[in-house]
Amino acid sequence: MRAPAAATLLALVSAALGVPAADVARAATAPAVATVVPGSVVRWPGVELASCEMKGRRWQPLADACWYPIDLELQGSVELVRRSSAGVASRTVAIGPYPYPTQELTVEEKYVAPPKEELARIERERQRVGALFALETPRRFSLPLGAPLDPLPAGGRFGARRVFNAQPRSPHSGADFRASPGTVVRAVADGRVALAEEHYFAGRAVYLDHGDGLLSMSFHLSEILVRTGDEVRRGQEIGRVGATGRVTGPHLHFGLRWHGARVDRALLIGEVSPVEVR
Ligand SMILES: [Zn+2]
Repeated sequence: MRAPAAATLLALVSAALGVPAADVARAATAPAVATVVPGSVVRWPGVELASCEMKGRRWQPLADACWYPIDLELQGSVELVRRSSAGVASRTVAIGPYPYPTQELTVEEKYVAPPKEELARIERERQRVGALFALETPRRFSLPLGAPLDPLPAGGRFGARRVFNAQPRSPHSGADFRASPGTVVRAVADGRVALAEEHYFAGRAVYLDHGDGLLSMSFHLSEILVRTGDEVRRGQEIGRVGATGRVTGPHLHFGLRWHGARVDRALLIGEVSPVEVR
């Protein structure tokens, strides 16, 4: 069979997708409308929105906009898609260079080169947590989220490249807040306890599912005050600050995953505005 001419191919794609040819053409050739930082969130406002899509995952709009979390380690560019009463539209955003500093930390050697007998446990925990990143349950939150500590201490840098005892490791996907051991940690929104247990690196950890693919994580707790499966309300006490797992001292590690992407909590707690595209 002869290859169809470009115009014919466009018509075929258009027919297959059930969208106007002009939309498909723009999606295929569109230049980036913005450059965004890894770990940021893009907001694309619109009317009569039906759904939002990125990288094969689809979700619901929130407050008259589609929100797209850009994972901390995403590179190159990414296509944002949305469906509305007006049809399908897309925008391409470029991902800027990695902007975060490198942080050198010294921890107990067992947290850099775990002993052989702990490897199976670490892998089991990695899988249990990995399954949570695919959760898409009905939304239970609104933005901005609440703060995990009251008052929320300054600091809490997100995104640093991590070097533990001179060994490079995954970048820092949360924010660390220094606080006295025993300080109460609160749920940042209504939700369900997806997992509450002690892990090798995270120490005593609570994972809350807030619906719409949003997961909040509180690590290194001295005490867990909820159980897996519990329903929690925004502001409810879920644990206490501690120094369990891979730490240099007592602090709260607070992280967010939204539709699987690691994003800066400052964007959702209202400290920083998301990037807007039109
Ligand atoms: Zn941390």
